[in-house]
Amino acid sequence: MRQIVLLILLFIVGQWLVKALRRHDAQRTGARGADGAGAANGGARSSNGQQPQLAEPMIRCVECGVHAPKSDSVSVAGQAFCCAAHAQRHGARPSGRDAR
Ligand SMILES: [Zn+2]
Repeated sequence: MRQIVLLILLFIVGQWLVKALRRHDAQRTGARGADGAGAANGGARSSNGQQPQLAEPMIRCVECGVHAPKSDSVSVAGQAFCCAAHAQRHGARPSGRDAR
């Protein structure tokens, strides 16, 4: 009976060790960057605090919900729109929708 308990304990400790090792490995690959390290296992977690290299930040239009690059967007009063027409439409409308 005591052996079974010992086995379970060993199993739990082993799982914990594997988890700790994986976390350590992920941190190392994240710090090293993308020079051949991510080829081993998918490299799913590439964003480690800093953005990967997005060409441009994207904004979400308040009026229609379309995502547009920030350079193409129009921002009025701290709100971003995909085009000037939507900004005007949103401004012309009585503020019922964005009153939270
Ligand atoms: Zn829009």
